Amino acid sequence: MQAPVDTFSPMGPWLQRFAEQGAGFHTELPAQGLPDPHWVAHSPACAELLGWPADWWQRNPEALAVFSGNALWPGMRPLASVYSGHQFGAWAGQLGDGRALLLGEVTTPSGLVEVQIKGAGLTPYSRMGDGRAVLRSSIREFLCSEAMHHLGIPTTRALCLTGSALSVRRERVETAAVLTRVAPSFLRFGHFEHFSHHGRHAQLKQLLDFAITEFYPACASEAQPALALLQAVSERTAMLLAHWQAVGFCHGVMNTDNMSLLGLTIDYGPFGFLDSFDPHHICNHTDTQGRYAFARQPQVAYWNLHALAQALVPLVGTGKGDDEDVAAIQAALASYGSVFSAEMTRLMRLKLGLATAQPEDPQLVDDFLRLLAANQVDYTIAMRRLAKVSSTSDEPAAPMRDIILDRAAYDAWETRYRARLRQEASVDAERALRMCMANPKFVLRNHLAETAIQRAEAGDFSETQQLLKVLSRPYDEQAEREAYAAFPPDWAQKLSVSCSS
Ligand code: AMP
Ligand code: MG
Repeated sequence: MQAPVDTFSPMGPWLQRFAEQGAGFHTELPAQGLPDPHWVAHSPACAELLGWPADWWQRNPEALAVFSGNALWPGMRPLASVYSGHQFGAWAGQLGDGRALLLGEVTTPSGLVEVQIKGAGLTPYSRMGDGRAVLRSSIREFLCSEAMHHLGIPTTRALCLTGSALSVRRERVETAAVLTRVAPSFLRFGHFEHFSHHGRHAQLKQLLDFAITEFYPACASEAQPALALLQAVSERTAMLLAHWQAVGFCHGVMNTDNMSLLGLTIDYGPFGFLDSFDPHHICNHTDTQGRYAFARQPQVAYWNLHALAQALVPLVGTGKGDDEDVAAIQAALASYGSVFSAEMTRLMRLKLGLATAQPEDPQLVDDFLRLLAANQVDYTIAMRRLAKVSSTSDEPAAPMRDIILDRAAYDAWETRYRARLRQEASVDAERALRMCMANPKFVLRNHLAETAIQRAEAGDFSETQQLLKVLSRPYDEQAEREAYAAFPPDWAQKLSVSCSS
């Protein structure tokens, strides 16, 4: 019998490239689904990525059961992968997917992607955890994954979110949710560290070959594929970090098990976008030392790349870490610094609307950021208002000047900026348009997420879906959504985001 035309079946078949790597890499196990689940949210853009219709979830009778961990579509084979890693600078030993399950891989218009559910019960790698994810943190991850994508920042994606009345104990009793994530791969630096640390060099080599064949094919033809991979990952990580710094994103838990081999933003926990510009901002209240403070992120990523490099030593040259091999590894890592600086400079020039490159530009940017920091000015709003500066007028731009306490310092800086714009004969209207495409008006501020969470916890998911809509067009004016671009309310300063999720 033919299926009615309005039903949707996922484009199969479901593939298992990662599952086929063998037992040492993962454990196959069934999900422990949410009891009596309900839908919380969907991302039409992520559905589009998969080549699925936006209303796929309404058109497949098993969709809710599948994405709450209660059923499988034919060909899905759930598994949890094993990895290790460094947490807060110290070796943490074996970790792994403590609550994430890879369901399978599916062909999409843009290539193969992995589909993973997070929060569907215990795995052999759950350690002290309960295998669950709470609604609060799942909404944050759902919204931020999609927001980052629409900002143009590499990230894992979020397809949908289901919830349940099931109680989960964190600092308080909350309810459980299951988030569905999508990415070409969820491989982390920690996967390599795992096999290397335990001296399982054959599996380490197998993982390298897998990663190169599937995700970095250009490295295969290099004389030293492991070095080529290290360099490619260093470059992608540098690009990612430049984007984070330019947009004012703080990840919060940059442990090596939370570093994507593909240079994607992964594992959204206590992340935050800067409200007022503070280089020392720490978004994770359990990070008492400030290891992962905003301005330290680029250095931490470099430290993490060294951990990856260390893990790859057995696959480089003699495999014993001879001087010559160490020098080659250092050279591969060095690309991180050059790519990061170049990309950071490029992004900040775009944000300032500078069409040409001049030697004084980094200083001009630096001084602007210092001004913002000294005056605790909102980063997103300040960058967006910079487009109001007129190169032809001799008057400072009021919308900018109004939000900076030290007016004299601002005026002095704006005079330099205007001179710089005149130097390249900048056309105000054209520049303003370009700047609005480089400086988002809407980012997922903590208080916006918090409002959506509070409503969702009371059973109303409309704000989550509404916020997703606003964040799907971060560079557009959306005049009717002005409130989402406003300064954070006073209560936002008291929001504290913990690691517990
Ligand atoms: P994170 O810092 O959130 O990336 O988590 C570090 C490790 O702890 C990972 O291996 C997670 O899978 C695991 N983990 C975190 N929360 C839980 C939980 N509630 N249940 C089981 N494992 C968890
Ligand atoms: Mg993690």
